[in-house]
Amino acid sequence: MFTGFLQLSPWGIVLATLALTHITIAAVTIFLHRHQAHRALELHPIVSHFFRFWLWLTTGMVTREWVAVHRKHHAKCETAEDPHSPQILGIKKVFWEGSELYRAESKVGETLEKYGTGTPDDWIERNLYSRFSWQGVGLMLLIDAFLFGPIGITVWAVQMAWIPVTAAGVINGFGHYRGYRNFPCDDASTNIVPWGILIGGEELHNNHHAYGTSARLSNKWYEFDIGWLYIRCMQVVGLARVTRIAPKVKLVPPKEKCDFKTLEAIIALRLEVLTRFDRLSKKMHAKAEEIEVLRQNLAALWQRSTASKEQLLGQLQTWCRQAEESGIPRLRDFARHLSRYTLRQGAKG
Ligand SMILES: [Zn+2]
Ligand SMILES: [Zn+2]
Repeated sequence: MFTGFLQLSPWGIVLATLALTHITIAAVTIFLHRHQAHRALELHPIVSHFFRFWLWLTTGMVTREWVAVHRKHHAKCETAEDPHSPQILGIKKVFWEGSELYRAESKVGETLEKYGTGTPDDWIERNLYSRFSWQGVGLMLLIDAFLFGPIGITVWAVQMAWIPVTAAGVINGFGHYRGYRNFPCDDASTNIVPWGILIGGEELHNNHHAYGTSARLSNKWYEFDIGWLYIRCMQVVGLARVTRIAPKVKLVPPKEKCDFKTLEAIIALRLEVLTRFDRLSKKMHAKAEEIEVLRQNLAALWQRSTASKEQLLGQLQTWCRQAEESGIPRLRDFARHLSRYTLRQGAKG
């Protein structure tokens, strides 16, 4: 019987299938998600063209459509207009029918118009990738049959199911439903597991919603984002250039009064600051009202977009003074800790 051009053992076929699906995941997370939808990094044309070709071959997804649906998800997160919120539609629907939800939204002209700007619009996009979006996967079926023999049809079926299950189902579903949260974002996003390997780092979905334009999705020392590893490797050989990354704090000795550098760091790291404040307020059982007012005043620092830098700094200094004068030792320590904040060089959100 014809066992394919590669003549692989059963385990060889399993490994080859994993490798093929992993390349597709890398293309989705690095090219579609971080590069095209969020502009967190630039890619060398060779890499860009490879990913576009590979996505055409293995998914049939059109860049403009993917980007538009995804940007709308960020803009309308957990509302009735979110294309795939398990908080609105229920986890069962998003998990089992994730790709149907995606497909329905990708046909809405208004979504494409409003959110699909800046995606490839060259000759090959117009005449091949968008126009014959499903012929690529047909070609892949022939390639799989040639490489693996009849079992190639199964390899192909796994490839076809990979994105609908892992991205549309697991990330869009469980990434807004189950897992742990590093940051108190306004949405329900979660990190599904701290090690992002199988789904290319996308598992760290709460980190992503906290810092949407960051090229790196891991944030804590124990978290791992394999997509980031690939990006770093490509950067070393000049195939990628990271443009944005989540800000990181650098602690300097405590200051008598917060200055502009402190203000800049606190605003950039607002979600970390709030997490710390909430953790602290849980330990303080008394004076709940006073603490709530302080929390609101702290959050006002990044909510009032019309205030000048000088006004915001004044507010921050007043806030620290109030915390010092509250007579609560934990709050006083927190205010002193805030005065130590500066942004680590080269890390801007
Ligand atoms: Zn999300
Ligand atoms: Zn995103």
